Amino acid sequence: MAPRSGARALCAAAARLGAPRRPRSSPAAAPRRPQPADRGARPAPPQPPPPPPRGASRQPPPAVDFGDPREAFRSKSSAELLRGLVVLGLCAVGPLVEHNRELLLLGRRVLGQPLFERLMKMTFYGQFVAGEDQEAIKPLIRRNQAFGVGAVLDYSVEEDLTVEEAERKELDSCTSASEKEMGGAEQREKQYRVHRGFGDRRGGVISARTYFYADESKCDQHMETFLRCIDASSGSSEDGFSAIKLTALGRPQFLLQFSEVLVKWRRFFHQMAAEQGQAGQAALETKLEVEKLQEALANLGIATRAESQHWFTGENLGVTGTVDLLDWNSLIDSHTKLSKLLLVPNVQTGQLEPLLSRFTEEEDLQMKRMLQRMDVLAKRAAETGVRLMVDAEQTYFQPAISRLTLEMQRRFNKDRAIIFNTYQCYLKEAYDNVTVDVELSRREGWHFGTKLVRGAYMEQERNRAAQIGYEDPINPTYEKTNEMYHRCLDYILEEIKHSRKANVMVASHNEDTVKFTLRRMTELGIHPSEKKVCFGQLLGMCDQITFPLGQAGFPVYKYVPYGPVNEVLPYLSRRAQENRGFMKRANRERDLLWSEFKRRFFAGSLFGPND
Ligand SMILES: Cc1cc2nc3c(=O)[nH]c(=O)nc-3n(C[C@H](O)[C@H](O)[C@H](O)COP(=O)(O)OP(=O)(O)OC[C@H]3O[C@@H](n4cnc5c(N)ncnc54)[C@H](O)[C@@H]3O)c2cc1C
Repeated sequence: MAPRSGARALCAAAARLGAPRRPRSSPAAAPRRPQPADRGARPAPPQPPPPPPRGASRQPPPAVDFGDPREAFRSKSSAELLRGLVVLGLCAVGPLVEHNRELLLLGRRVLGQPLFERLMKMTFYGQFVAGEDQEAIKPLIRRNQAFGVGAVLDYSVEEDLTVEEAERKELDSCTSASEKEMGGAEQREKQYRVHRGFGDRRGGVISARTYFYADESKCDQHMETFLRCIDASSGSSEDGFSAIKLTALGRPQFLLQFSEVLVKWRRFFHQMAAEQGQAGQAALETKLEVEKLQEALANLGIATRAESQHWFTGENLGVTGTVDLLDWNSLIDSHTKLSKLLLVPNVQTGQLEPLLSRFTEEEDLQMKRMLQRMDVLAKRAAETGVRLMVDAEQTYFQPAISRLTLEMQRRFNKDRAIIFNTYQCYLKEAYDNVTVDVELSRREGWHFGTKLVRGAYMEQERNRAAQIGYEDPINPTYEKTNEMYHRCLDYILEEIKHSRKANVMVASHNEDTVKFTLRRMTELGIHPSEKKVCFGQLLGMCDQITFPLGQAGFPVYKYVPYGPVNEVLPYLSRRAQENRGFMKRANRERDLLWSEFKRRFFAGSLFGPND
């Protein structure tokens, strides 16, 4: 098998996914008051509020009360309130949560499958999962819609592998054939190498499900599942979302290697900036002087002045004769002479090193198939009008995931935001990531779409960094993460105010963050009916935030997991852990559930309509 330059193939293929670069360019939402009948099996389809005619004055955005249990749980039957109380109560019992996996397996053995399934559906599964398949979830989706709450469909089936199986699969799929044959994996940076102890990526994770690579046909199956999910989203609502994970679509080795390339490339830019006396500046404010940069490249032996002259002309050169990070990143596209650029200096040794090992033809093909699968999904989403959310994952995959998603945005977000990227604000570099990508969308004229989260892999990321010995990528404290979240969000909201082309989903259960968003929307004149800002929470969690938002006319969505009982057990296990981890929030939810239950009891309406 002929080896090829892996980095070159990756970068070129990623760039091919992208559109041709463009020249740079320097209503009153009537609050939805659901009728009692809405809670039944077949509520009337929701009527999105019509946008106001141009120039018409809009009513101010409605106030939202997150402390009113009656509003929060209007969509719930009394049996569902009771289920919520029981499930959240059980999540507060430490030993039960710690040993939940063993207890679930024991329960299944003792009760037998049919009884176990019934019990799960009455409790944890019923609370956090919508149903077994696309058909089964329809009543719940319709009911939520009647209360102004949309859906992000998320097929949540996970293979129930043992730790050993997971580690084995991970080691195998994160190492290239040439590394296996000839060694060399140790030349990769520690962060971007696979480590047996962290091969099971499920540990120390909340919220997210995990895929392990088996073979190409398994990836095709995942793609088919995502396609069905997109179709189901388009069939169940007008402006639905579907969520995908890129680790489901191909060998993680590519994500790992491509991430390393991108990170080294960016680091090289910052090294050059430091040499020009600009160390520590925010990414977008750092601008390299071309003259000095060319001199440095020549001194390092990377390119002669004549060669680098071609790189920094036309679209690769800023108007002021400087090169910023975006210009720099564009050099990694296919139309630049990559072979030399992919040699970067190692500051420790002073040597030039290739960014990557080589790919075999088979690996080259596997990588292309991964990109093709993404392409198929994006096309189907665009055809059916469903917005596709690409979930964020671990830091050693995320630069590649984000970059590939961005390439899809360039192509599919020309007229509206179809593809949504995800930014994790627990990362120290989150602000730089958000601002650089927003700026790119501005220069190239496409619609920026994002889901903003705090991040689900904190514990695992921290342990990995500490044990393997690289800098912890996570903000040092929870408060710093909150600051980061609000800073990134504010930047996007300002962008919406200025261009109306950006779109954000505030994916958080944090009431303060939701209130912050509502306040800033009012201050910046962003009206809910424009649907530029939406909110997202997980099914079964924080209804006291979701439903008042929906009923007040704000676009809000539940992440709706679905799948057969046995196959979503790993997901359920993590739901239990997350609820225990955030007791203050869970306590508030329980208090509100309890107030509403008591109110209905004393009003004699436990079994009647919920008004
Ligand atoms: C709709 C939706 C989609 C999601 N999609 C993704 C996704 O694609 N990728 C992903 O990674 N996560 C995703 N998540 C999970 C999300 O990242 C959070 O883990 C989860 O929502 C809890 O954060 P919060 O804002 O809701 O609540 P909070 O309780 O306010 O925040 C908890 C979060 O704060 C951070 N944090 C806690 N303690 C510290 C500390 N000591 N130092 C630094 N930071 C700290 C962690 O990120 C923790 O999860 C999603 C969540 C939702 C609701």
